[in-house]
Amino acid sequence: MILDQFKLNGKTAIVTGAARGLGQGIAVGLAEAGADVALVDILDTDKSKALIENLGRKAIGIKADLSDKGSVKTIIDKTLQAFSRINILFNNAGIIRRAPLTEFSEKDWDDVININQRTLFFLSQAVAKVFIQQGAGGKIINTASMLSFQGGILVPSYTASKSAVMGLTRLMANELAVHNINVNAIAPGYMATDNTAALRADAARNKAILDRIPASRWGEPEDLKGIAVFLASDASNYINGYTIAVDGGWLAR
Ligand code: NAD
Repeated sequence: MILDQFKLNGKTAIVTGAARGLGQGIAVGLAEAGADVALVDILDTDKSKALIENLGRKAIGIKADLSDKGSVKTIIDKTLQAFSRINILFNNAGIIRRAPLTEFSEKDWDDVININQRTLFFLSQAVAKVFIQQGAGGKIINTASMLSFQGGILVPSYTASKSAVMGLTRLMANELAVHNINVNAIAPGYMATDNTAALRADAARNKAILDRIPASRWGEPEDLKGIAVFLASDASNYINGYTIAVDGGWLAR
């Protein structure tokens, strides 16, 4: 029956950037659907862990700095040690730096590209190898952005990285589909998290953004639970390489 295909019972998910914000909402959503979760973050993930354990699911925190590719092995080893399998990877962690392009520094370029793009690829590569070895398919979901579709302003490394995420989602989907591995992405619109605190604190920008969102509100982490569960589940087994906007209508306008 179709609703059973959405269930994630017995599955293990890795969610990066799971300490707060969208990653926390995604991790809790996957757990509500039945998954156990490895919570990866540079920050403490105790709050997310408690939310998941309250649902009767298992969770572990993995402290890792995703700007360093060396974190990839630790994440795989600790997840397999705790759960002995991996079924879902949600590459959610990401950072943003804002400055006019004429002043944009190499550090703000490298920091963003390393986390949002470079480690996202190498973690996906490592998880794909585990999926292939396990022989039971798998799901990789990447977090793209409105700036996978649009240019934006003041955020060149963010736009570059999120545009790359949409392209890599397609490439990975093409090479991995034969192994029953689905790779897709979500593109959140303007969501109320720490990532957008500066925008919301600027009254003029806040109003301009709200005026342009057909749904007339900022998105919340809760708004991503449905798409996260869908793309992590068997209900999406014939969806490959697609980036789905969850944006209150921003791109439709
Ligand atoms: P957030 O800053 O609240 O959360 C990001 C999480 O990633 C944090 O828990 C942070 O500690 C973690 N993280 C940052 N650097 C890390 C590192 N080096 N190693 C490990 N973990 C690290 O932001 P958010 O809004 O929840 O963003 C989540 C994802 O959604 C990001 O990829 C972001 O680009 C994307 N996104 C956000 C919005 C939005 O409007 N908030 C819109 C589109 C896309």
